[in-house]
Amino acid sequence: MPQYEEADVLVIGGGIMGCSTAYELAKRGSSVVLIEKGFIGGEASGRNGGGVRQQKRDPAELPLAIESVKIWRAMKEELQWDLEYRQGGNLHILSNPDTYDTLVKQLEYSQSKGLDVRLLNPEETREQIPVLRKDLEILGSTYCPTDGCANPLLVAKAIARAAKRKGVLIKENEPLEQLVVKSGRVVAAVTGRCEYRATFFVNTAGAWAKPICNQVGLDYPVEIKRSQLMVTESLPPVFTEFISADACSAYFRQALNGGIHIGIPSVPVKNYNKLSTYDAFKIAGESTSLLFPFLDKINVVHAWAGLTNWTPDAVCIIDKAPGLEGLFLAAGHSGHGFCLGPITGRMLSEWIVDSEPSMDLTGVRWTRFDNIYL
Ligand SMILES: Cc1cc2nc3c(=O)[nH]c(=O)nc-3n(C[C@H](O)[C@H](O)[C@H](O)COP(=O)(O)OP(=O)(O)OC[C@H]3O[C@@H](n4cnc5c(N)ncnc54)[C@H](O)[C@@H]3O)c2cc1C
Repeated sequence: MPQYEEADVLVIGGGIMGCSTAYELAKRGSSVVLIEKGFIGGEASGRNGGGVRQQKRDPAELPLAIESVKIWRAMKEELQWDLEYRQGGNLHILSNPDTYDTLVKQLEYSQSKGLDVRLLNPEETREQIPVLRKDLEILGSTYCPTDGCANPLLVAKAIARAAKRKGVLIKENEPLEQLVVKSGRVVAAVTGRCEYRATFFVNTAGAWAKPICNQVGLDYPVEIKRSQLMVTESLPPVFTEFISADACSAYFRQALNGGIHIGIPSVPVKNYNKLSTYDAFKIAGESTSLLFPFLDKINVVHAWAGLTNWTPDAVCIIDKAPGLEGLFLAAGHSGHGFCLGPITGRMLSEWIVDSEPSMDLTGVRWTRFDNIYL
């Protein structure tokens, strides 16, 4: 067993961020090793709601989401794997007069940035989603036809497979133990099996990224949350859209195999607890009855949870480490990073190989927060 290995870049974490980064770096000619504490796609990237959404994005993330969707559209061919990605639309139902104006303003802002997102009136909304509860009072909906979803069980694995074909060395079941800093630069990453020496290190460890930053004296504000999903038995096709509503907290999509995926939003959790909870089933039941009573007697056949990492402004960090050479961070994707995975990888690879990313990443910089040093 070698005591050390060398590469241009060492990527920490095999979720969608790490796999995309490794893949894009290899495409640009870098030699890359990716270390993963468990297995590829074993955490949030393989446990999520599958939504690939541009609408309702913070202005800092909107251009990234729009560019990412361009990548998503080509991924089946590029990766030679069917990710079950389809642009079935994303529809957010509006019932609350108090938040209506804010959401309409957000929609107008997104339109001004080139996103095709539409304000549907109540009749148009019901035409789009005929199975919506008949007596639910609605004001309309915001609808983005180019939004969609993919199967999270497939995506990170498919990117990793393509990365391997391009020469990336992927090491599963090999957690990072320690980053080594010399003269203001990260120079090595030590695991239980090997010391990896590289020119650049990329921290894409998701909910575990902060403790890794802490090892080298860096910090950022983040809250770890648990988000849950449940899946019903298979049904004939009822909707293609990813559907959410301001009247309830759950969201819905129908997978290609017919199961309705019901997502329960993130709540803060201690000790990285990923157990499904009774409360989530209650929220799912209440939300289902409110929006889609036809689901009331349908069985839930599967449920799981995953961990998300939330920054105070719910916007991710994609940046070089402040005051330390050789380290990049992509984390804090706050419950909506699946869509941004491909563009995050592309931006980091451009930054590392070409010395700067092709998009303006000012809105997702690390230094927007105070207290970023321990
Ligand atoms: C239930 C749920 C529903 C969601 N729904 C959506 C959605 O519909 N749309 C959307 O856009 N986003 C959604 N998200 C969020 C999305 O899944 C995440 O933002 C995204 O997957 C984050 O990717 P990541 O690569 O940063 O993190 P992860 O997928 O968590 O990957 C990080 C990886 O780092 C590894 N790691 C950690 N520590 C170490 C270490 N010391 N050494 C080596 N490896 C390490 C972990 O094992 C993990 O595999 C959802 C998340 C959850 C949990």
